Amino acid sequence: MEKMNPASKQATPVHVVSYAEAVRTIRQEAEKIREVRPAAEQVPLLDATGRVLAEAVRADRDQPPFPRSTRDGFACIAADVQSGRMLRIIGQVRAGEAWQGGPLQPGEAIEIMTGAPVPDGANCVVMVEHVQAEENQLRLKAGHSIAPGENIVPAGAEAKSGTVLVPAGTRLAPSHIAAAAACGYAQLSVFQKPRIAILATGDELVSLESTPLLHQIRNSNSYSLAAQIQLAGAEPVILPVAHDSQPAIEAAIRGAQDCDLLLLSGGVSMGKYDFVEQVLHHRGAEFFFTGAKIQPGRPVVFGRLPHQYFFGLPGNPVSTMVTFALFAHPLIAALSGEASGGPRFALAGLTHEAHCKSGLTRFLPARVDYSIHGATATVIPWQGSGDLASTANANGFAVLPAEDKSLSAGSLISVLLM
Ligand code: AMP
Ligand code: MG
Repeated sequence: MEKMNPASKQATPVHVVSYAEAVRTIRQEAEKIREVRPAAEQVPLLDATGRVLAEAVRADRDQPPFPRSTRDGFACIAADVQSGRMLRIIGQVRAGEAWQGGPLQPGEAIEIMTGAPVPDGANCVVMVEHVQAEENQLRLKAGHSIAPGENIVPAGAEAKSGTVLVPAGTRLAPSHIAAAAACGYAQLSVFQKPRIAILATGDELVSLESTPLLHQIRNSNSYSLAAQIQLAGAEPVILPVAHDSQPAIEAAIRGAQDCDLLLLSGGVSMGKYDFVEQVLHHRGAEFFFTGAKIQPGRPVVFGRLPHQYFFGLPGNPVSTMVTFALFAHPLIAALSGEASGGPRFALAGLTHEAHCKSGLTRFLPARVDYSIHGATATVIPWQGSGDLASTANANGFAVLPAEDKSLSAGSLISVLLM
């Protein structure tokens, strides 16, 4: 299909898809991207938090390396102590020490601390709270019992030497940093961050340092996108604003060729001065979709130039943010070498009635509140997709399905988390 834009414009392909189709398309392209491994670099362990691991973290020895006591108490033979007989305390072993005597014999117990290696011959650790100890003897207190293996983690039970603890493609969280530290990694190999070009278009835009005339507005999209890109773990490259003319947009796109992904904002609607698709078409773009049945963000465009993927994001600030989160974020995750990644959704109970629109998946700015009982979502009244003030009060977007129905208060809906 082709869309005939107003007189001065040439025909460009038109392909408007449902939200689900758009997601499928993004997923397909993300899988193609994942076939190519990004370049990697070594960084100090602490600089790796939030980066994507390029080489797996492996256990450098069995974990635990020795049978580890998980309690302060006494190492002994379970049947022995369980019988209720008196055991003789023959010594002690602290964390950081190894028992130097021979194997523990029946009738004996060795005092042991949490984290210490369990001496040979012992098959359980009875908790200090569960025994009656006097002089150099102890017995199990009435009402307690103990089984073989209790309070001991056997050597290698957590991981065998060489096991992958953190696979490549993982975005590193504190738990992964801990695993790497335990295995002696002072540095980690991580993928280089993809560079994401941001090109805002529009004759009405002025820089944030300027005082706009009444009919002008400051360019906020370059900054919301840069912030979203940073949070996605990539590197934003803000280009100068391009005017609404084909040569200006063309020149700006050429200037972004060294980036891994190009994000344009504005100029993708039906207006007489919306030239973005035209210019991309002229530069040999393949368009995967030129619109999605979502609100806000319907005019969103996704495609590929000969050398890079691009998104034409609608200029309305809330549309820009939502379409980035839904479509650009998962593609950036793939460009980052991440095995999965993209927007996060949660289930939340609506605090009020809400109306859906047939054929249009809606993402309405919402306040999401969390408690031990789960999350609730309250849609914030707004003036539409240009309303940054309302959106600044939101911490998510309520997802209303593309069906002709009303949702009553208490209905469980999906929320897109920001
Ligand atoms: P467009 O997508 O170019 O038709 O723009 C839609 C609306 O978004 C218009 O009201 C624009 O003024 C506004 N807009 C476009 N680009 C930006 C931007 N970079 N920052 C803030 N608002 C913008
Ligand atoms: Mg515009």
